[in-house]
Amino acid sequence: MLKILKYPNDFLRKKTREVNDFKDSKLTRLVSGMMKVMEAEKGIGLAAPQVSSDLRICVAKVDNVPHILINPKIKSKSRKKEIFEEGCLSFPGKFFPVERPVKVKIKARDLSGKKIKIKAEGLLARVLQHEIDHLDGILVIDRAVKYEEKK
Ligand SMILES: [Zn+2]
Repeated sequence: MLKILKYPNDFLRKKTREVNDFKDSKLTRLVSGMMKVMEAEKGIGLAAPQVSSDLRICVAKVDNVPHILINPKIKSKSRKKEIFEEGCLSFPGKFFPVERPVKVKIKARDLSGKKIKIKAEGLLARVLQHEIDHLDGILVIDRAVKYEEKK
């Protein structure tokens, strides 16, 4: 089983590089290993740097639908934003309120290297934005909004 790096491991700040070789059998092995550990840890998203890989890959599973995104890029974001508590497998047991666009359009490639487009909203949009942040070395604590406690 792949090991999940926990904050403040430096590797979580590393920028990833794009996948070019879709025929490499290591790619399939990495992606299935990521899916496996994500499910075992009851996560809904996982990015390659969290398992010590510097490749631009993330996976998610929302509403029981698995998503594999290779070289993902956010193409557009809705103007409407929402604040929601986010967890992260690299910050076990912690939750941070984060403001994000409600809808996003993403371009990526699938495991075979084919171009895919994803229109996501709600929880899936949030998870994918969180994971794509990981691929740029951005963590949930960088995005967390400070909110005042009600008295
Ligand atoms: Zn995370």
